[in-house]
Amino acid sequence: MRAYFDGNSLGIPLAASRDRLAGLVGTWSSRLIRAWDEEWMALPETVGDRIGALTLGAAAGQVVVGDSTTVLLYKLIRAALAARPGRDEIVIDDDNFPTDRFVVERIAAELGKTVRWLPVDRHSGVEPAQVREVAGERTALVVLSHVAYRSSHLADAAEITRIAHDAGALVLWDVCHSVGSVPIQLDGWGADLAVGCTYKYLNGGPGSPAFAYVRADLQDELEQPIAGWMGSAAPFDMGPHYEPARGIRRFLSGTPPIVAMQPMRDMLDLIERAGMTAVRRKSVALTEFVLEIADADLAAAGVTVATARDAARRGGHVTLEHPDARAVTARAWERGVIPDFRGPHGIRIGLSPLSTSFAEVADGLAVLRECVEG
Ligand SMILES: *Cc1c(COP(=O)(O)O)cnc(C)c1O
Repeated sequence: MRAYFDGNSLGIPLAASRDRLAGLVGTWSSRLIRAWDEEWMALPETVGDRIGALTLGAAAGQVVVGDSTTVLLYKLIRAALAARPGRDEIVIDDDNFPTDRFVVERIAAELGKTVRWLPVDRHSGVEPAQVREVAGERTALVVLSHVAYRSSHLADAAEITRIAHDAGALVLWDVCHSVGSVPIQLDGWGADLAVGCTYKYLNGGPGSPAFAYVRADLQDELEQPIAGWMGSAAPFDMGPHYEPARGIRRFLSGTPPIVAMQPMRDMLDLIERAGMTAVRRKSVALTEFVLEIADADLAAAGVTVATARDAARRGGHVTLEHPDARAVTARAWERGVIPDFRGPHGIRIGLSPLSTSFAEVADGLAVLRECVEG
């Protein structure tokens, strides 16, 4: 492979993860079931706290790891709607990630709620003014992505959260496309809820579990719909009825995915060493570099930029457009340059700040140009 431009979709494995996974197998074989008490039972919260402290701007006790993003969206959206019983609208944009839109649509149908779709330009994303226009006494919940998966638009999360709160609504941020590349301040924004993936910029590996953030003072008020023993107050009492655990643990349902939770810990160690400020600085420099090359070398071949020029409104990837994007992407893959195609005309250049080099970008985009030219 010559250039990997999909770290925003599946991050590369860290060398340290080989040893960590081997260590896990060692603990599993030597300690067997005793390892649950000795270490594993606490991992959803201890790894969650680390994600929170290093990447989310979240104080301890508010982040838990488990399930997929999709399942956590379902759980938190249901919990939020139940906490706002007099309100019947969910606000979401019409170009949010498919799973977010599908979950919202289905829950609305189940509960007889209304979806207020915000129309967004595919080249940018949701602006605070759009939320201000629709948020009101009917709004129960606003569900938005911090960085748009398609355009890389970086939402003004602090301002949008404030607008939603002024209307008495709750806000859920999907940080899948920002966590590990763009600094996040969930506590600072006053966010209520958030979910995010760990297999993208957190390099957790295929199918690694997602995390949920629930603001501390909301936790005991919220009731999630998948009542399982692992989220109950005393799982090993094997009691007759579900009594939710206090705190963030109540958002768990079944047995936590311990094996799949290992590789992300290596990336968290690396982020701790670099610091999110430096990660973002490199990320901005990488996206600027792509824009420079796009203007200087690719524009003449008919490639346009579908991502914000203002770095303050841009996440960690750049989306280019070309009428023949699907075929261009296929040709690039054959030559070991791996961006991804997002219809109808998008070629996403994902730049994982700690693993993508400037030389790789220059080389990969030179190949891409040849692919555009045929
Ligand atoms: C990648 C991504 C998801 C994926 O959800 P899964 O349940 O992990 O498949 C959801 N939302 C956004 C914004 C994403 O970028």
